Amino acid sequence: MKKVVKFGGSSLASAGQFEKVGKIIRAEKGRRYVVPSAPGKRFSSDTKVTDMLYGCYAKAEKGEDFSEDLAKIRARYQEIIDGLQLKLSLDEAFSVIEEDFKNQAGTQYAASRGEYLNGMVMAAYLGFAFVDSATVIRFHEDGSLDTETTNRLLADALEKQEYAVIPGFYGADATGKVRTFSRGGSDITGSLVARAVKADMYENWTDVSGCLVTDPRIVENPVPIDIITYRELRELSYMGASVLHEDAIFPVRSEGIPINIRNTNCPEDKGTMIVGDTCSKSEYIITGIAGKKGFASVTIEKDMMNTEIGFGRKVLQVFEENDISFEHMPSGIDTMTILVHETEFAEHEQKVLTGIQKAVHPDHISLEADLALIAVVGRGMKSARGTAGRIFSALAHARVNVKMIDQGSSELNIIIGVENSDFETAVRAIYNIFVLCKL
Ligand code: ASP
Repeated sequence: MKKVVKFGGSSLASAGQFEKVGKIIRAEKGRRYVVPSAPGKRFSSDTKVTDMLYGCYAKAEKGEDFSEDLAKIRARYQEIIDGLQLKLSLDEAFSVIEEDFKNQAGTQYAASRGEYLNGMVMAAYLGFAFVDSATVIRFHEDGSLDTETTNRLLADALEKQEYAVIPGFYGADATGKVRTFSRGGSDITGSLVARAVKADMYENWTDVSGCLVTDPRIVENPVPIDIITYRELRELSYMGASVLHEDAIFPVRSEGIPINIRNTNCPEDKGTMIVGDTCSKSEYIITGIAGKKGFASVTIEKDMMNTEIGFGRKVLQVFEENDISFEHMPSGIDTMTILVHETEFAEHEQKVLTGIQKAVHPDHISLEADLALIAVVGRGMKSARGTAGRIFSALAHARVNVKMIDQGSSELNIIIGVENSDFETAVRAIYNIFVLCKL
């Protein structure tokens, strides 16, 4: 069994956390490739090393004195090194970083040093080889990932290493300039490594025992999800569930490698398995509920709209020309509604309205803001009768007015639009009917 194990920042925030991680890795010989994040928070009011680096570099960029900030970052690593009684010196690494900061090496370079240094500490602690991600994770010059070159570079480098540490979050372009993914991007590194070494499993270790059916900030102690498909997870993460970076799914998905979300602080918990497909039925018909606030709707009415060929295309073109992506598009015979992100839309509102007017000469356009979308996701919904009925009767009992309904043809999800102010009540009502009442 060959495994790639990625550890998040809270799993590596202190020497004590490193020791837990060391135990986990040594417990299985197959845990061969380790992808660490930068040290995260040790307690809730603490600052993540990545954020300290952003702050420190902001000063360097302005030509201000950053020595105190860099010393604080250094102290975070020294505390870990001393706690683990390692004979590792970061003197040289820190003088290079200081010099590079003075020479304005860039924000992405600065942020990447958190993972780079933690990778060095982790490699020394485990006695594994250190593979600098700048040499194996390749970005295009426009900042996007060069997936195929990365796969080749990683496969070649790791073929030679039975055990290795590959820091998360960053890589470099062909000129050697360091680039990072967006925040939380070490998840992507782990997934890329798993693909390149053809791992049997990608374990993603964090501080929760897997994905939960819904957001714990809305429902107290929601039940965990044992098993979920990539497609279900993608629907949920798109709608705001945030256990894993959105882009981390693609590399392993294409190779059919399962992801196991695990808890460093409770390694005995099985966590959540994310898989390509499964016969295992979800206990509650639905797999998860997620949602987001802050949408607006643009409803266009025109008599005989349905007979006007190209009507929809012309309307959508106006959104495209204004660089606005749309989320959903429920329609009636003579109406169509476009749901968009409020913030994206606000800037272009009047231009879009004029554009639609010119393009299709509607009878009426109406706008509505402050909408929330809720996705109820579940592979089991396809074969269960009355799922939508249950959702809507639960919402009616909770006195939530449903503004929009959209069921994807895959029957994997039902999207419900409600007012922002009804969002939490609606999520709780749906959770209660399926999970607590098991209806
Ligand atoms: N350290 C980076 C962040 O805080 C990347 C990561 O942890 O995945 O976003």
